[in-house]
Amino acid sequence: MSTLTSEERSQLVQAAINTMKTRGRIVIVGASLAGLRGAEGLRKAGFSGPLTIIGDEPHEPYDRPPLSKQVLKGWVPADHTKLPRLCAVDADWRLGVAATRLDRANRVVHLANGDEVPYDRLLIATGVRSRQWPHPAEAALDGVCTLRTSDDAARIQKHLAAKPRRVLIIGSGFIGSEAASICRQLGLEVTVAERGPAPLAGALGGVIGAIAADIQRAHGVDLRLGVGVQSLEGDASGHVRRARLSDGTTLEVDLVLASLGSIRNIEWLEGAGLATGFWGVACDAGCRAFDIHGVVTDSIFVAGDIARSPHVLFEYQFLSMEHWDNAVLGAEVAAHNMVSDETRRLPHLLVPAFWSGQFGVNIKSVGVPSFGDEIIFTMGSVKERRFAAAYGRRGRIVGAVTFDHGKWLDFYRAQIEQSGTFPPPAAGFDRPAEAHPMPADFPARGVPTAIPDVVLTGYDPNERHAEYRARAR
Ligand SMILES: Cc1cc2nc3c(=O)[nH]c(=O)nc-3n(C[C@H](O)[C@H](O)[C@H](O)COP(=O)(O)OP(=O)(O)OC[C@H]3O[C@@H](n4cnc5c(N)ncnc54)[C@H](O)[C@@H]3O)c2cc1C
Repeated sequence: MSTLTSEERSQLVQAAINTMKTRGRIVIVGASLAGLRGAEGLRKAGFSGPLTIIGDEPHEPYDRPPLSKQVLKGWVPADHTKLPRLCAVDADWRLGVAATRLDRANRVVHLANGDEVPYDRLLIATGVRSRQWPHPAEAALDGVCTLRTSDDAARIQKHLAAKPRRVLIIGSGFIGSEAASICRQLGLEVTVAERGPAPLAGALGGVIGAIAADIQRAHGVDLRLGVGVQSLEGDASGHVRRARLSDGTTLEVDLVLASLGSIRNIEWLEGAGLATGFWGVACDAGCRAFDIHGVVTDSIFVAGDIARSPHVLFEYQFLSMEHWDNAVLGAEVAAHNMVSDETRRLPHLLVPAFWSGQFGVNIKSVGVPSFGDEIIFTMGSVKERRFAAAYGRRGRIVGAVTFDHGKWLDFYRAQIEQSGTFPPPAAGFDRPAEAHPMPADFPARGVPTAIPDVVLTGYDPNERHAEYRARAR
């Protein structure tokens, strides 16, 4: 029997929690939005121990959304989007050097310059990178670009300022569509080649994609749907000058933006025995990484675009979200949990949301539209391109999108949080003529090319373990 009074016991528990806050060394890999907000979260939560932040870019943490908006427009220089500091982080910054290996047994992060950085707790925040144009010689031509970093944005800004005869954008997701919009604002001729059926269809489905296509064409974009780019050709000086398309046409172009989606930065985790793969690093809803067996780790946390975690509102399915607010909230939750005992841990329960500005339209979304299979226009007018629409799955609302109707987003957020019915109840008075559910028309998910091949080995149940099967290269 314990002889401690309840007051003494609670003092002991508090002392243990305080020790956790100060004890040990924390390392963050990835010095961008999630990395910085994670570091700030740790300090705000009272962590006073040594903190190291490792980033392969040479720049201090900066904001990416303005890169495809204000920066491409030429309003803001590419190196002027530094993230505001919300508090002092008092960290050892290792910028311009990549983490190349994680040694979990010895709790060490290996760096490209040969340094070894020991940790007691680790936050993985290495995000994603742009998928490059797949033909290396063509991708190396001057004027063939992708857009993820501020250096990319500076390069594209320079090319746009040189007034290219025509810009070719390959892919019409959000970044490709925002870039097309800016080209038109700058008075440039632009062709968008999209292999799929409509712009934005992956995120918002074909019904909304058809509206986005109309908007692009009304603004003078030469939009080619169901069309791929077969090859790019350069001139004698190595600058891109021509593109051959699968519809049989050849375009004279001076700038190509390959906007082909992203790849998770997981290579440095190879061999570390974590649950990593095409969709990122799997973690629990408290941001703790899973190992390859699906067992949760104690000392490794994940946040931002690279994280993949189950969400209560979406049938506990693992979601990867490449959104700004997901990186911020995920990092705050991870930081809190890194220095909290298990009774005080928080879940990362964000209702995802994102925004985009293109062709004069303010697009906002909440929830996970692509989780739905039906859509209904709920407010406004599709003809006037000022409307709200809700997405449903099995009679429940799972997402919503607004075109120039953002003030209603909170209404839909509340419906999604409450797992409300689909179609949702009427809000406001401007019900559109087309207010009936219809298939949301999401394209079939392409077969990912890099899903890890995990196998079980051993016959004795006590000796069985999972390992990645070596992939043929
Ligand atoms: C052009 C553009 C426009 C966007 N617009 C919007 C928008 O309008 N709305 C919205 O919600 N979201 C938008 N986003 C998405 C948003 O910016 C991301 O969700 C956010 O940046 C994610 O932050 P992160 O820290 O997880 O990852 P990142 O910002 O990708 O940061 C990861 C960092 O880790 C570094 N790193 C990678 N590997 C290593 C390694 N081995 N060692 C060390 N460092 C490494 C990377 O270089 C990078 O600096 C946009 C993104 C882009 C690129």
